[in-house]
Amino acid sequence: MTGKQLHKFGGSSLADAECYHRVAHIVQTHGHAGDLVVVSAAGKTTNALLDLLRLARHGQPFEEALAELKRFQQTLVSETLGASGQPLSDQLAADIAHIGQCLGAEPRDCAAIQAFGELWSARLLAALLSRLGAPATALDARDFLLLDDSVQPRPDWARSAEALHRCLAQRPNQRVVVTGYFGANAQGRTRLLGRNGSDYSATLIAALAEAAEVTIWTDVAGIYNADPNLLADARLQASLSLDEADQLARLGSPVLHSRTLQPLRQVAMALNVRSSYTPDSPYTRILPRGSEQTEPVVTSLGRVTLYRFQGKVPAFHQLCDWLGQQGLPPLADYDQPLMLALTCEQSRALGGDLARQAASLGLTLLSSGDDYGLVGLVSQHPGRLAGAFARLLSRSAYPCCRHDQALVTLVPSREVTALVESIHRRCAGPRRRIGLVLAGKGNIGSAWLDLFSRQQQQLNEEFEAEMRLVGIIGSEHYLIDEAGIDPARWQGRYQQEARECHGLEWLDRAAVMDLDEVVLLDITASASLALHYPEIVAAGLHLVSANKQAGSGPGTFYRELQRQLSNCHRYWRYNASVGAGLPVFYSIDDLKRSGDAITSVSGVFSGTLSWLFDHYDRRGPFSELVLQAKSEGLTEPDPRDDLSGRDMQRKLLILARELGLTLELEQIELESLVPAALADLPLEQFLARIEELDPLMQAAADEAKARGLALRYAASLTIDEAGVRARVGLEQVAHSHPFANLPAGDNQFLFLSKHYPNGLVIQGPGAGREVTAAAVQSDFVAICRRLLH
Ligand code: ASP
Ligand code: MG
Repeated sequence: MTGKQLHKFGGSSLADAECYHRVAHIVQTHGHAGDLVVVSAAGKTTNALLDLLRLARHGQPFEEALAELKRFQQTLVSETLGASGQPLSDQLAADIAHIGQCLGAEPRDCAAIQAFGELWSARLLAALLSRLGAPATALDARDFLLLDDSVQPRPDWARSAEALHRCLAQRPNQRVVVTGYFGANAQGRTRLLGRNGSDYSATLIAALAEAAEVTIWTDVAGIYNADPNLLADARLQASLSLDEADQLARLGSPVLHSRTLQPLRQVAMALNVRSSYTPDSPYTRILPRGSEQTEPVVTSLGRVTLYRFQGKVPAFHQLCDWLGQQGLPPLADYDQPLMLALTCEQSRALGGDLARQAASLGLTLLSSGDDYGLVGLVSQHPGRLAGAFARLLSRSAYPCCRHDQALVTLVPSREVTALVESIHRRCAGPRRRIGLVLAGKGNIGSAWLDLFSRQQQQLNEEFEAEMRLVGIIGSEHYLIDEAGIDPARWQGRYQQEARECHGLEWLDRAAVMDLDEVVLLDITASASLALHYPEIVAAGLHLVSANKQAGSGPGTFYRELQRQLSNCHRYWRYNASVGAGLPVFYSIDDLKRSGDAITSVSGVFSGTLSWLFDHYDRRGPFSELVLQAKSEGLTEPDPRDDLSGRDMQRKLLILARELGLTLELEQIELESLVPAALADLPLEQFLARIEELDPLMQAAADEAKARGLALRYAASLTIDEAGVRARVGLEQVAHSHPFANLPAGDNQFLFLSKHYPNGLVIQGPGAGREVTAAAVQSDFVAICRRLLH
C-alpha cells in the first residue's frame, strides 16, 4: 500500500497489556514510519473519569475511585513496559494528583479531565512502539485541532491542517500517536467530540493529514449483511459505498457513526473497518464511491421510540424537518396516523425538547412507547427491492418507508429477529445462480445474445438472482466458462478460447458447474442435438427450444422425454418452435385451463407460403414467384424445404401434442407442392426444372377461380366424434375466410372452441430474428418464474 495511513484503536482494543502488544504489532506490520495512529482511552477509562466527575459534582468522596483508576493505568504501564515504564509512571502519578486537585476545586474543567484517558493511551502506545524499535511520539490533538464552540464542535480546516503539518514536520520518520476524542478552541480550552468521538477524530485527522486511507481497528471484523448476533449466517461485507455506510449509521447501526463518515466526503479516502483481535482476517472497506458489487445489508434495532401525534399534517412535516436540522432525522415517519420513530438514544438526547417543539407547532403528543423495533434494508438501489421487501411484511408491520438508500419498517420488538431472518434470506442472502448455455450462435442466436445483454441486469433484479451466460455451443466448437461470458463481447472470447466439439463433452462440463440451475437454449435446427435431449435432462439441465425436431419427433421419444422431465423436475418449453413470438402456446394453455374445449386448429404456419399465396394471381407462373421469393431471401436456401409442407406438418404435430393428442408425423396427411420427380434432385437440377411446379398449381388455381374461392396452402386439425383429422396442403376458402385475408408473409393460427365458435385468430410474423429471439427469452423467463417465485 502506498501513501500515509492512519490507524485508529478504540478502548476495547487497548483494554490490557496484551492488547497494547497486539496493537503495537499491528502498527508495525500493517504500516510504515510516517503513519499516524489515533487512540481512545483504554478500556473503560472514560467512564471512570465521568464517574469521578459525577461524585465530585454531588460533593461525594471520589478518592477511592481515583485510586482505583490510578491502579488500572499503573498496571497497564508496568505490564506493558516493565521497568522501562518508570518515566510514564511518574507522569501518571503527577496527572492523578492534578486530577484530584481539579475535582476538588470549582469550576471544574470537565473536558480537560476527560482528556487524560486518551493522553495516557497515546503516551503508553508511543513508548511501547519506541521500545520495540519503531520510533514513535505521542501528540496531543489540542496542539493542532482547532474546534469552535458549537454544541457539536466543528473544525477550522485550514488552520488545523496547517498546524498538524507543522507538528508532523517536527517528528520526521516517526509514528505519531495522536489522542482521539477532543481538540481545543481558540482559547486553548479542551473541546470534546462526544462519546465515542474518537472514530470521528480518526477520519478528521486523516483528512487533515491527507492520508491515503484510514483503518478503524475495533472488536468486530467489519460490517455484516445482518446482525451476526441475530443470524448465524450473516456474512461479512467486503465493501460498502459511503452512502450505504452512512444510511446504516443513520438507521442506528452501532458500527460507524454518521459523523465519522463526513470527512470521507471531503477527501476521497477509503475507510477500513477491521478487528484488532484477528488482524489477518477479511474486513470491510468503505469506498468513497459505490461499486455495483455491493450487496444489500439488513439492519435492525430491537427497540425504537415511537411517538404518536395529533394535529395537522404540514405541522407534522415541519416537526420532522426540525428533527433533521438537529441532526436527528426520524428513522421512519407516517402521516396517517401521525407517527415518527427515533432511536432510544436520540429520544433520550432530546428529552422534553421534542414535545415542546411539537406543541409550538400546534401538535399534541398522544403517546410514546418502545415496544416496536426497526428492520431496514440498505442498498444502493432500494427501489429494486421494494416489492420483495413489502411481500415479507406481516400485518403487524408498519408500511415500508423509503429512504435514499434504504427501505425501513417498524414491527413489534418480538418480531424483529424473524423479519431480519426472512429479509436476509430473500433480499440479502446468497443469490440463486442460473447458468445459460446457448446452442446455435447464428442469426437468431446472436439476436438472443444482444437481447440478453440488454436484459441481464433487469432480470437479475426482478428475480433477485444472478443470471450468467456460461456456454456457447456452435456446430464445431464450444466455449464453456462457469464464471460467465459477457454476452455483449462474446465473439472475441469464442474465437480465442472455443474448443473443438467432441460428442457431449460440453455437457459433461456444464453439468458439474457450481450453479443452482442451468438452462440450455437450443436455437439450432439440429436433429442430433434434439436426440440428446434425454441425456441433457438427465444431466440436470432445463430446456428451451426453437428447434422443432424434438417436439415433432417420434411419439415414443417425445413421451419418454416428457416422462423424464417430470421425474427429474426439469422444464422444457418450445414456444419459439411454432409461430416464433406469437402467443400460441399461452392461448392453448389458457383455453385449457379456463374449461374451454378446442375442436379445431388450423392456419398458415409458414411465412414463405403465406407470401407466395398472397402474391399468386395466375397471371404469371407460380415458379417465377418462387424464384422471386428466393432472390428476396424469403425462402429457405432450398425452396423445397418450404414447398414440401414438412415444416408446417411438424408445427401442426407440435400443436396437436400440446392439445394432448397422441399423434405421429405420418398421421398428418401432407400434400407437397413439389412433384415427386423433383423431390430428390440436387438443388441445381431442381432449379433448372422448376417450371414443372406450374401445371399442378395452375390447375388448382383455375378450379378455385371457377368456384369463386381463394387458393391457399394451410394446415388443419379437427377433433370430433369421428376422431382426429389432420392435413397440410392446398385449400380453397371463401374470400371472406381469415386465410384469404392474411397479410403477405404473416402466420395465422385459427382456433375453434366451445367458447370461440367463430374462431380465435392469432396472427403476425411467425419467423424472424428479433421475434424468435424474444420467444426464446420469454420461455426462459417463464422457466425462471417457476424456479424462483
Ligand atoms: N474515550 C471516548 C469515549 O469513551 C471516546 C471514544 O472512545 O471514542 O467515549
Ligand atoms: Mg411461438
